[in-house]
Amino acid sequence: MTTRLATIASEAGRRVALVLDDGSALDGPAAAQAAGLDPAPLNDMVSTIAAWDSLGPMLRAAAAKPPPGATVAAGAYRLLAPIPRPAKNVFCVGRNYIEHVAEGDRAAGRETETPKYPQFFTKPPTAVIGTEETVPSYAAITRVLDYEVELAVVIGRPGSDIPAERAFEHVFGYTVANDITARDLQRRHGQWFKGKGLDRSCPLGPWIVPADEIAAPPDLRISLTVNGELRQDSRTSQLIFDLPTIIATLSQGLTFETGDVIATGTPSGVGYAMTPPRVLGPGDVIEATIEGIGTLVTRIVA
Ligand code: MN
Repeated sequence: MTTRLATIASEAGRRVALVLDDGSALDGPAAAQAAGLDPAPLNDMVSTIAAWDSLGPMLRAAAAKPPPGATVAAGAYRLLAPIPRPAKNVFCVGRNYIEHVAEGDRAAGRETETPKYPQFFTKPPTAVIGTEETVPSYAAITRVLDYEVELAVVIGRPGSDIPAERAFEHVFGYTVANDITARDLQRRHGQWFKGKGLDRSCPLGPWIVPADEIAAPPDLRISLTVNGELRQDSRTSQLIFDLPTIIATLSQGLTFETGDVIATGTPSGVGYAMTPPRVLGPGDVIEATIEGIGTLVTRIVA
């Protein structure tokens, strides 16, 4: 059974939970109490990750045989972003699948060259939302709202100057991100922050799958549909700069902390590079899926 580590909101408040196969959720603090462990870390995903060595085995055992009263029925809870408010900006890698680099260069009328160094930008914590949430179309400020499905890495063990060969020791798990982008703002302001920093423009989730359940490096189908139409379809093994390179490069002189999130780039098939270009608008439903992790659903509203 895949461990689907989620942050939920239920009658009992916000807490860490495991989403079970029948759609119910194992309430983390209740499971800890039943096992005689301190429930407090399970009120928050980052402290849960920090204490995972003891909490992980307990949660997995409780998921297989839930203690009485420790589950919340499907429909009686809401999924929040697994890390609802990251402590710092979400790190992002731009232009990290060669077919996506090529489609962007085609749209801009330039020749394609494989990037020599990874390109980094960030999205602010205020951009993060969970699955089944809405994003405004921002019709007054952009005409080119677009989607980008991405494999997101959640950092477990803190560190800086992490050597590439030790990078996976710092990866706690994986989730799905949708790097919603206002392309016209991205271009107009040079630096990408404005076009990629809008409120609610970083759907994240639906949950985290711990890294020990996914072979490293991840080779997973990554895809996205808009209103059921397949737009992006690739594999996470197609990254130009792989996870060890990203983590080693970013962590040079920069400290990763538990709960930091890195969105690792999007494959080809984004709307603005289609012929003719397609943009997101009110009513659109975006489903971003990574095999073995889950599907992140986002609705665009007026
Ligand atoms: Mn992106």
